[in-house]
Amino acid sequence: MVMQRTANPLKSVQFRSRPLKKAFAEHVLRWYDQNQRTFPWRISPNDHETAPSPYRTWISEMMLQQTGASTVVPYFHRFIQTFPTLNDLAQASIDQVLVLWQGLGYYRRAHHLHRAAKIMAHQGIPLSYDGWLALPGIGPYTAAAITAIAQNQRAVAVDGNIRRVFSRYFGMDGPDWVSHVWKKADEQLADTRWGDYTQALMDLGASVCKTKNPACTQCPLVDQCHAFSTGTPTKWPTKIVKSQKKKQFGHVYVVFDDQKEHVFMHATPEGGVLGGLWRFPGSSWELQPPPDPTGYDFSGTLVHLFTHITLHLKVWVDWGARGKKNGSLDDEYTNPSDTSMLLSDEYKNPLNDSGILLPHPFKTMHSDAPPKELPHTSQPKETPPVGVPQPTPSQDHDHILGRWIPLNRVHEYPLSRLMQNVLNQARSSVSSGTIAMAPRHTEWV
Ligand code: SF4
Repeated sequence: MVMQRTANPLKSVQFRSRPLKKAFAEHVLRWYDQNQRTFPWRISPNDHETAPSPYRTWISEMMLQQTGASTVVPYFHRFIQTFPTLNDLAQASIDQVLVLWQGLGYYRRAHHLHRAAKIMAHQGIPLSYDGWLALPGIGPYTAAAITAIAQNQRAVAVDGNIRRVFSRYFGMDGPDWVSHVWKKADEQLADTRWGDYTQALMDLGASVCKTKNPACTQCPLVDQCHAFSTGTPTKWPTKIVKSQKKKQFGHVYVVFDDQKEHVFMHATPEGGVLGGLWRFPGSSWELQPPPDPTGYDFSGTLVHLFTHITLHLKVWVDWGARGKKNGSLDDEYTNPSDTSMLLSDEYKNPLNDSGILLPHPFKTMHSDAPPKELPHTSQPKETPPVGVPQPTPSQDHDHILGRWIPLNRVHEYPLSRLMQNVLNQARSSVSSGTIAMAPRHTEWV
């Protein structure tokens, strides 16, 4: 896409016409003029003709929350190609947005982006820090970054990289050092070129004052840097002790039709981990490993890292639901009354005796259940009535939508990386035939 170029009258004159008072800011800006990183959302400090776009800056800052810049670049390109303007984004469906977001993680950001786009399409783009702060998904850092970068207004943005620079330069220490950084950053703020200054600090933290092996000899702040003067700059900042990740355990069920051309999935209600994305039916995630289900073939165990959780997920596979008595592959399941019509009474209770959520209402978890047939037998399998996504106690059932999805169209649905891995795992074990040899009960890894 060709970026629209408009003159930015502020940019070319401010630095030269108003001498900077503060040495810190002056050093940082001079360094930035020669060493800035190039990104598709960024305007070079040497480009005096182009004004930054608030829309593009906002998209990039939302993507950069929790995600590294090199990962964001291809996502940003695809996003802007698909939604070149705010109105394009505001008129899109949330599924279209989530499809472009899949793999980037922290999907709540995509929901916030979509909601904020609708608000801005109606009310206009904010012109102040407070206006940005009032939008969904925007906190003090993001509001300040957008205000400074896109609108060149005085605003203090402090992210992890910037915090590290200040901590080392000023030797900030002690239990409360983080809370003092904003004040220090405000004191040192440049008198002008606030957008460039913010981006300069981001770049300095990311490419010079790195967590490990800071390149102090290339740093514009080396002469006055407290941490450098001690000879052990990486002692700063004081490490913040993180709590250990909790282990959680669960099962996920990939059910194909008998031709293995469709797979059953459902949309997750918005909110919570992976909210709004499509997923396979599964158990809840527990602190203790839940018992293995019967009636499925074991495909493998995936270990997935979330911010606070290490999830151990067993992938189970089944197929052959096409021949069910009620409903067809074209059916969609939108609420409990729809689904209950498809089920006989014995399958309606989603909890077993131990309070474990059953994977499908049509499955049971009796440990003495007979072994199921292996996949490559020619004998047709007995096919239970089609399943529905397992309800969890906290879900709003009206939002659940179960659907048979053709495998060659799964890519049109927003899936988390975890669910993509689950599908890959299931497909590869089915197509390789290893599923036929899998034990029915397996140890957790
Ligand atoms: S001199 Fe070294 S420690 Fe100090 S701010 Fe620069 S890179 Fe960081």
